[in-house]
Amino acid sequence: MQLNFIANQPVPSSSGRTIPMIDPSYAEAFDDIQRSNAQDIDVAVKAARHCLDTVWSRLTGPERGRLLMRLSESVIAHTDELAQLELRDCGKPSTQALADVAALARYFEFYAGACDKFHGQTIPYLDGYSVLTWREPHGVTGHIIPWNYPMQIMGRSVGGALAAGNVCVVKPSEDACLSIIRVAQLAAQVGFPSGAINIVTGFGHEVGDALARHAGIDHISFTGSPSVGTLIQQAAAVRHCPVTLELGGKSPQIVFADANLDDAVPAILNAIVQNAGQTCSAGSRLLIEQSLYEPLLERLGQRFENLRVGPAAMNLDLGPLIRQSQQQRVWDFLSDAQVAKIPMVAQGQIVDEAPQAGYYQAPTLLRDVPVSHPLAQEEVFGPVLCAMPFEDEDEAITLANATRFGLVAGIWTRDGARQFRMAKRIQSGQVFINNYGAGGGVELPFGGVKSSGYGREKGFEALLGFTTLKTVAIRHG
Ligand code: NAD
Repeated sequence: MQLNFIANQPVPSSSGRTIPMIDPSYAEAFDDIQRSNAQDIDVAVKAARHCLDTVWSRLTGPERGRLLMRLSESVIAHTDELAQLELRDCGKPSTQALADVAALARYFEFYAGACDKFHGQTIPYLDGYSVLTWREPHGVTGHIIPWNYPMQIMGRSVGGALAAGNVCVVKPSEDACLSIIRVAQLAAQVGFPSGAINIVTGFGHEVGDALARHAGIDHISFTGSPSVGTLIQQAAAVRHCPVTLELGGKSPQIVFADANLDDAVPAILNAIVQNAGQTCSAGSRLLIEQSLYEPLLERLGQRFENLRVGPAAMNLDLGPLIRQSQQQRVWDFLSDAQVAKIPMVAQGQIVDEAPQAGYYQAPTLLRDVPVSHPLAQEEVFGPVLCAMPFEDEDEAITLANATRFGLVAGIWTRDGARQFRMAKRIQSGQVFINNYGAGGGVELPFGGVKSSGYGREKGFEALLGFTTLKTVAIRHG
């Protein structure tokens, strides 16, 4: 049984209720978490505030940095344990789970180094005046985290907030939170003061909602679906609490006829197969220049047919989806595709060893998907890639920008001038040219436009969002 982690202590919820944790590879319960409530959030917020007022706000940047660095080292020392938790909780093949641990450690390392390098400015002003700006932490920050990359999203969100001088109350997803609880325990072990990092588990509509509404929360970092993002905004608006929204995507991969396909094909494949397609930045739309359309689909089709899906422990190309309702969501999209007579190019294989009850989905390549069809407009959040042809740059841009999302885009061409023209015209928070998300991007500001959200996390830029600016004008004559 997993407990909340508040003020460096394991604490049961006052509700006395729990939620079973399901291993998606087998559809079997293997643990329980607390089904917390508003009272538990209140206790966590008070613990965080006490820490801020008595300890955390008095630490210098280098002192915060040393703590974060120790946490990064502890994460690395517990790599196998954390990867196993994520493998079981999320159904991630071990290669992915290990990559997530490495990214978590890297976030803490990056933000450890940032603590003493982030500062305000001086501004030339009237004669006899000096003006300076201070970057100040918000105070107690709330972090609502989804199930698809619990460790990575905790790292970028909590790492940035702590570096900027905030303390944190974290609400992980009810579907995957074991690694997050464990990381908070490790933080306590390496010396984080009581109340700096607090974890409260439970359902979104109960404990997530209570966190978003709590008057003691000074900033909310939300990563999740656009519909819940709206609820968070509404809750925060009542008290004008600042919010960072990291929401969904329907990201295009745009391939011109002059692209280097030896580079493009594996990256296109990885961008939809990684984490079984349950990635906000999944490259889920494939826009191909007409003259390349048939040859590229044939080449990709062969690669799709070779993809294997099975239990996380088998470490195949894909593990299961997170839960039965997510599997059903993908099935619904695919049956809509059949009704609309959208042709399927190829599908991977679910291996015989995969238990019938597990939430498996074969990766699927569809072609000629009409731009107005839900498959081309909405997040499937599964391993489904939708291809469509374009004639020229203008049509590529029209198709790329034709959804409500704008998170990430990939452009594949050897034409340097076209690379810039396309990058300028595309509506998205990140643009990758002749690569797609390579290296994980801990240092690279990340976030969306349109319904993909606003604000930026990752990189140094995140520290702007996790602080507020105070302008100090001094008249000295
Ligand atoms: P979700 O919106 O259902 O849940 C996200 C979190 O919000 C969970 O912790 C959940 O418990 C909580 N929540 C649910 N209802 C709530 C409410 N009423 N009030 C407060 N909190 C509530 O999303 P999900 O299914 O966990 O994750 C998938 C979504 O997350 C996709 O849309 C994906 O694109 C998005 N995502 C975005 C990014 C990014 O950085 N842009 C990263 C990962 C995932």
